[in-house]
Amino acid sequence: MRPVSYSRVADVATAIGVVSTDADSAFLAGGTTQVDLLRIYVEQPGRLVDINDLPLRQIDALPGGGVRIGALARMSDVAQAPLVRTGFPVISQALLLGASPQLRNMASIGGNLMQRVRCGYFRDLAAGCNKRAPGSGCAALHGVNRGHAVLGTSERCIATHPSDLAVALVALDAVVHTESSSGRREFAVDDFFPLPGETPEREHPLHHGELIVEVEVPGNPVAERSLYLKVRDRESYEFALASVAVALSLDDGMIGEVRLALGGVATKPWRARQAERVLIGAPATAERFAEAARQELQPAVSHGMNEFKIELARRSIVRALEMITADDWREQQRTTLGGAA
Ligand code: SF4
Repeated sequence: MRPVSYSRVADVATAIGVVSTDADSAFLAGGTTQVDLLRIYVEQPGRLVDINDLPLRQIDALPGGGVRIGALARMSDVAQAPLVRTGFPVISQALLLGASPQLRNMASIGGNLMQRVRCGYFRDLAAGCNKRAPGSGCAALHGVNRGHAVLGTSERCIATHPSDLAVALVALDAVVHTESSSGRREFAVDDFFPLPGETPEREHPLHHGELIVEVEVPGNPVAERSLYLKVRDRESYEFALASVAVALSLDDGMIGEVRLALGGVATKPWRARQAERVLIGAPATAERFAEAARQELQPAVSHGMNEFKIELARRSIVRALEMITADDWREQQRTTLGGAA
């Protein structure tokens, strides 16, 4: 392992000042992904600036029913916060299903959004990978790509975005707030994650030394009737093959507002806007759910081993909609968690 210096800072301004003036440095929060990547030489900063003492762990109610979550709040604390559990169950469920209990206790909200892809070739220094080494090719295109994306891909990269939390946040139009030596900025979370296009090495819009300080989720009455459905190879400690974040209002069998996003099948947390268009104002029927799923997956492209994901994503959308529109939808919310709660 390359030698790396370590320091611990206690305020945001100092953290930003230290990292922004040293191109060879990086912030260190929970470290649950970052330390792995250091050990295998995929990331090699010369200096780590530990930000765990920064006062960024708040989980506060906002006027209008929203919630403000500090970037260093732990996944476990946010998942169990009454404000989140009751007002935004889809967020709580995405966090509970997103990692093992040990990881949830360490991993931060900001770090969750900044985690790197789980593509095996990204972590294999002997393989071509445009994300890790721009211009070196994409070994996954004709390699082992069972877990890779079918939506939002390019000829440069087909890796799925790994965060469950981000899928729930995209569905609820959350906003990411950042701070840097140039001041504060904010990004709609959907804009925070670019498609790979020609530049898969660009995974977010942040400059070096720019720090996520908080995430705001606006109040939305439909968020209470929401759930996160995650389909994976095993019941715990596994990434999604397909996942669905859904929130909606239902009036006498008719769908009012609806929010739908997909994980595990796209190169970014995927807001399913075409499916939403099909569902808004429509009867909550199996036929309409299937049509919404069909239209959303229309542009999907497989690369061989991951072809099954197209049908899996369709079925997952239908299943999530069936669960959240059922009379016992509160019980259905609980069943998505299995043993994770
Ligand atoms: Fe790298 Fe993306 Fe290709 Fe994986 S899919 S090898 S991350 S370029």
